[in-house]
Amino acid sequence: MSKKEYRPISSFRAGHSPFRTCQWPFGDPGDADFHFCGKQCQEAMSYCPEHVSQAYRQPESKKAAA
Ligand SMILES: [Zn+2]
Repeated sequence: MSKKEYRPISSFRAGHSPFRTCQWPFGDPGDADFHFCGKQCQEAMSYCPEHVSQAYRQPESKKAAA
């Protein structure tokens, strides 16, 4: 047996993220008005540059009560 059928699935990495648009939520998921930002994402990010900075700058006023 010299037949190797080992095939690495490299094409799977072609698109690293299923999302190419900002997934920042606006409103409540139950609202009819609910929608995502939809701007172009930064590479390997789920948010646009604006919302990436917001995601990393979470308000710590709520966490202070510990
Ligand atoms: Zn955004």
